[in-house]
Amino acid sequence: MGGTMSYIIHYDIAALIIAIIVLLFFYFRKTIETRQNRIFATFIFLAIISNISDLISIFIITYSGIVPRWIEYLVNETYLASFNGTAVAYFVYTIYLTKNKNMSILDAIRAYVPYAIVCVLIFTSDFTKLVFYFDESGEYTHGPLIVCLYASAFYYIVSSLLQSVIYHKILSKSQFWTVVFFTATTMGAISLQMYIDGLLIVQFMISVSLLLIYLTLENPENYWDKMLESYNNLAFMEVFKANVNREKKFTVLGIQVDGLKFINENLGVSAGNQLMKEIATYLKTYVGRKNVYHMSGAQFTLMSAKSDFDWDEILKSIAERFNKPFMYGEMEISLNTHMCILNYPDTVTRLEDAIDMIEYSLKKSKVVGDGTVVYADQEILEKGKRENSILQALTQAVREDAFDVYYQPIYSVTEERYTTAEALVRLQNEHLGFISPEEFIPIAEKNGLIIKIGELVFDRVCNFYVTNHLEEKGIDSLHFNLSVVECMQDRLYEKLIAKMDKYNLEYKRISLEITETAAVASKDTLRNNMQKLIDKGMKFSMDDYGTGFSNTATIITYPFDEIKIDKSIVWSSMEDSKAMTAFKHTVAMMKELNLKIVAEGVETQEQAQMLKEMGCDYFQGYLYSKPVNGKEFLTKIDS
Ligand code: C2E
Ligand code: CA
Ligand code: CA
Repeated sequence: MGGTMSYIIHYDIAALIIAIIVLLFFYFRKTIETRQNRIFATFIFLAIISNISDLISIFIITYSGIVPRWIEYLVNETYLASFNGTAVAYFVYTIYLTKNKNMSILDAIRAYVPYAIVCVLIFTSDFTKLVFYFDESGEYTHGPLIVCLYASAFYYIVSSLLQSVIYHKILSKSQFWTVVFFTATTMGAISLQMYIDGLLIVQFMISVSLLLIYLTLENPENYWDKMLESYNNLAFMEVFKANVNREKKFTVLGIQVDGLKFINENLGVSAGNQLMKEIATYLKTYVGRKNVYHMSGAQFTLMSAKSDFDWDEILKSIAERFNKPFMYGEMEISLNTHMCILNYPDTVTRLEDAIDMIEYSLKKSKVVGDGTVVYADQEILEKGKRENSILQALTQAVREDAFDVYYQPIYSVTEERYTTAEALVRLQNEHLGFISPEEFIPIAEKNGLIIKIGELVFDRVCNFYVTNHLEEKGIDSLHFNLSVVECMQDRLYEKLIAKMDKYNLEYKRISLEITETAAVASKDTLRNNMQKLIDKGMKFSMDDYGTGFSNTATIITYPFDEIKIDKSIVWSSMEDSKAMTAFKHTVAMMKELNLKIVAEGVETQEQAQMLKEMGCDYFQGYLYSKPVNGKEFLTKIDS
């Protein structure tokens, strides 16, 4: 290259214009601050500086001698250093994209040491003439080590590519392809510029890449919920990570608004949206726009340094605000909230845990009641995680029909043999091992999966009875448990009958166990179904008598055939004389109502003797047998 050579500078000028536009957009539409967009800003700056100094250096090289020699050196050094700097900034940018943690020492060495060496070479070139110099005639000449500059640029670009290939699983598709695009275009442009004299295209390709990165990865709209004009969950995640990196204490408040579904269904979605906007505006004016995030649906979070706010005061104010109605046109609409609060680093240290914690805590606060606040802790996280994995295990078991059914024989006092048995579901999971129904039935109920599980278990029970001709073995019927959710089904009657018909099972061979709570909760639906099933010959047992707020008034209004006294009552009456008296009276009264009595949890001979004297009709308990699988059950009743 020489002073007489002509350069094609159009691309450089276009590059400068694009870079400045990106810079303006970046600053005027500024959103959340992350370390990623801070390094992006550095990246734009360096690109602009190298672009401007490139243009100036071409100008003064072309019109050699119009400025003092030291300025010529300075401009060229600035150009070379800032140009190499863009490559470094880009590399650091990819490290930030691929790593949640701060840069390691090794990362810092890989990022800054080569650049430091290159800068020393560049800024000592006046004396060493190693990178470039102006010869006696004032012509710009490359020194022997100019190749180091190209090598360093290539090193950074290739390192960025490697970084994103190695960590491609962490990157989104658009992140990955943006990095690949940048690498390909800058490498191509550098090669072109090396081979075609005078063509200055590298800056242009860098600016185009900057624009692309801005539009994809750094687009502020990624972090913005347009409808509610607040930050979204992506912004929450970025700011959370940034706060963690700054190692400062901060607090997250999760807010779940209830009643919105009802409004969407009854007043229309636009009413729901209007109310959400009102809530967002309230929160933004209260704690400041930059601290409010709309997570999803009717869920918000507030996040700020622990010391910025009096969080107890905020909780109180929000609760008070929700005690008053929100306005939709002329209508006053009441909404409820559930809130949870968590502190970094006291209760949570990782983003993933925080997100789970908010989810679980809000769920829990919903169970506890309107307007309650749950202080998130590790226990909630563990519980929530366990619930989630059990839910997964249940879903899988439903899909694969993998539940086992065990049978616990029930002993008839008068006939002195087993006349029935209770079917009890069992679940064995490869990761979680044995999961007790006491743990998984409530989870399955919350998610409606219990309906599917009930169908699978009932199918097994019918099949088991028919295939093994249990009536010939003295087993008059099998008991099957119905949960609350199953009792609420309109078509319970049709479903049960259809299944029994499928196996040609006589209807009187099934007894259904229902708790009092389930009976009360499902009211008329159950009553109707019960009567129709009884007309067909089925029987009903009231389960767990004595555990709820059982009162006889409820029992007599339902057509139960027998009462199962809960094991806790059986056990406590053996230890306490008052409990014993109450128990005796209960049994006497039940007998008068013509109800059969099953005592559960009979574990000792002593208990059995006592219960017999009182007049119980059936015994179920470990004294006779634990629940056993089908095969064992068959041998048990044969002997
Ligand atoms: P439940 O209906 O009260 O069932 C009786 C429970 O008491 C069974 O626990 C049984 O193993 C246990 N048990 C029986 N005798 C004794 C004893 O002598 N000592 C002691 N310590 N325990 C005894 P399991 O099998 O763990 O079932 C727990 C609960 O899960 C059941 O309580 C029932 O509410 C529910 N469940 C079980 N299978 C099903 C099902 O297929 N469908 C529905 N909806 N619920 C089920
Ligand atoms: Ca039962
Ligand atoms: Ca029971």
